[in-house]
Amino acid sequence: MSAAAIGVLKKEVKKEKEIVVALAGNPNSGKTSLFNELTGARQHVGNWPGVTVEKKEGFLVHEGQKIRVVDLPGTYSLGAYSEDEVIARNFIIKGTPDVVVNVVDASNLERNLYLTVQLLEMGANVVVALNMFDEAQAKNIEIDVRKLSQLLGVPVVPTVAIRGQGVRELLASVLQVSQKKEPSYLRINYGQEVEEEIAKVEAIIKKKSLVPRGYSPRWVAIKLLENDELILKESRSRSIREVIAQIDKSKKRIFEILGDDPESIIADRRYGFTYGLVRETVTKRSTTEERLSLSDKIDLVVTNRYLGIPIFFFALWAVFQFTFTVGDPLIEYIEAFFEWLGGVASALIADKMLASLVVDGIIGGVGSVLSFIPPIFLLFLAISFLEDSGYMARAAYIMDKVMHTLGLHGKSFIPLLVGFGCNVPAVMATRTLENKKDRIITILIVPLMSCTARLPVYVLFVSAFFKQHQGLVIFSLYLMGIALAVLMGMLFKNLFFKKEDAPFVMELPPYRLPTLKGTLIHMWERGYSFIRKAGTVILAASVSIWFLSHLPPGVPLEESVIGRLGQLLAPIYTPCGFGTWEAAVALFFGILAKEAVVGTLGVVYSVGEEGLATAIQQHFTPLSAYSFMAMTLLYIPCVAVIGAIKRETDWKWTSFAIAYTLALGWVVAFLIFQIGRLVGLS
Ligand code: GDP
Ligand code: MG
Repeated sequence: MSAAAIGVLKKEVKKEKEIVVALAGNPNSGKTSLFNELTGARQHVGNWPGVTVEKKEGFLVHEGQKIRVVDLPGTYSLGAYSEDEVIARNFIIKGTPDVVVNVVDASNLERNLYLTVQLLEMGANVVVALNMFDEAQAKNIEIDVRKLSQLLGVPVVPTVAIRGQGVRELLASVLQVSQKKEPSYLRINYGQEVEEEIAKVEAIIKKKSLVPRGYSPRWVAIKLLENDELILKESRSRSIREVIAQIDKSKKRIFEILGDDPESIIADRRYGFTYGLVRETVTKRSTTEERLSLSDKIDLVVTNRYLGIPIFFFALWAVFQFTFTVGDPLIEYIEAFFEWLGGVASALIADKMLASLVVDGIIGGVGSVLSFIPPIFLLFLAISFLEDSGYMARAAYIMDKVMHTLGLHGKSFIPLLVGFGCNVPAVMATRTLENKKDRIITILIVPLMSCTARLPVYVLFVSAFFKQHQGLVIFSLYLMGIALAVLMGMLFKNLFFKKEDAPFVMELPPYRLPTLKGTLIHMWERGYSFIRKAGTVILAASVSIWFLSHLPPGVPLEESVIGRLGQLLAPIYTPCGFGTWEAAVALFFGILAKEAVVGTLGVVYSVGEEGLATAIQQHFTPLSAYSFMAMTLLYIPCVAVIGAIKRETDWKWTSFAIAYTLALGWVVAFLIFQIGRLVGLS
């Protein structure tokens, strides 16, 4: 038998005979008390190799199973700052205990969970001993133990170490968990920027095989970004320079955008996770004197049971007001620019047809979309600000409760929020949902979130019909999308899935004043795709619309290909109030990109930027304008979103998404128009 085989055999025999349990926890959490309770007199004290820190080991036998218990030094964290931290974490990684019993002080849960979270990130096989449970009760702190256990994904056992309470249950959990084969890693979301850098570092250490044995690559990457020298030293290798270069680059980028070093941002997000955990699981009946941080004070108001939702809707409303009062006047400047450009082009191009293609087709089509840059960028600016400041996480937290009462998964709210910007990343953001059913339901309702591409259509129509109440009317469309998303979500859930909810933690990182640079970068990253789309999809759509409207040559517009197509489709929309061939064509091309609705209307009414609002006033009424906007919001997502849905699901769901949104859009537009007429609107 080879030496290696004997090694394996030995290890297996050892495992059969003895389980190694490490006690980890903050100082004064009651580790030593628990250790004594577990091992009694069967213990001995030595030193950790190479250092003078005391090492306590002991034995016990439980249900015929021999268990060796090691009392680790008390630590608050698993960094590389103190000897104690290093000893604790090295033992967990290299001593490979079968189970880590994390002793936490239940009367001081939030601070203690910081270590728990790190143990879970590391992939340790954890059982939580919720110690000092008596003190927590004395302080009127009520802990939902079952929920805490679900959220952490590990057993949580209340104990009172000094009285031996809960120890039997604890040992039962230890035995049960010790059977686990594959480690699982808790994944905290560190925010877009940091996550991107983690992924880069992870990729490079994986490629260079720099991940030391027993470590998870992601954990090593996070530690490296946290300035953990020890990990670097362990990864002795020639390629280390490249890694260091990448880490420096990553740190610089994070600092540039977020205005702080990765270390404190990672710590903040981790605290955000434990804060969210505690908010979900702990109710404190008596509000004893306690020092509240500024973040806590803000949250007391912002996430208040009664104030939270009104504040959230007020924030949304304020965002739209800001977007339009500031953005609207700016649109005119851009329009003026394209008009000037069109004038120059028609003066320069002698050929009449070619001039029409360039001026009406290209400049008109692309220009009509680009003129909405101000409100769109301002909207992204506002969203980026809310996100970077930490408020969006609160919004998701607040809505989580609402979503739960409606039977939807709370985490779905984040992709839906992203959907206000663009539905494509929103569909992709559903990847954070663990459950496939949740993902599909969320993907199906994401297209009902009013993305910025719908905005040009709204802006055009409200400026033509609802000049006095622009913000309000647009806000109502956003609300309509949200309300229908909720309704559809409930419907789909009951139709297709009867499912159990998997709980999760809503992270609540501390509030931060966003840096100007970071907010601007985020605004630009999001807004740029809008500009790029104008240069590609919209350009192509504009040119093809122009050609289709000039084919066959020499006929009036109504008899062109586009006119025929419109006439074919128009009757479908008659009951909705906009059964004209122009509107039908606009909706048809809106499938390429919703902004194209505006450009198409410009072409089919044969008017420039200036005249479009006037032309619309002649072809629509306020009522049919509103039902048309609702249709634009709801019907068939644009091709980019369809593509994203296809990538994330399959053709079956994609076809369903197309079909149901079309039906929903039609029904809602129909109801708006018909009910509106009944009550005497026009
Ligand atoms: P360690 O620093 O984690 O080893 O904590 P110790 O075991 O030394 O305990 C710190 C203090 O808390 C001691 O005074 C213990 O008597 C007390 N203690 C430990 N467990 C409990 C418990 O469950 N309830 C209460 N009320 N006190 C406890
Ligand atoms: Mg101790």
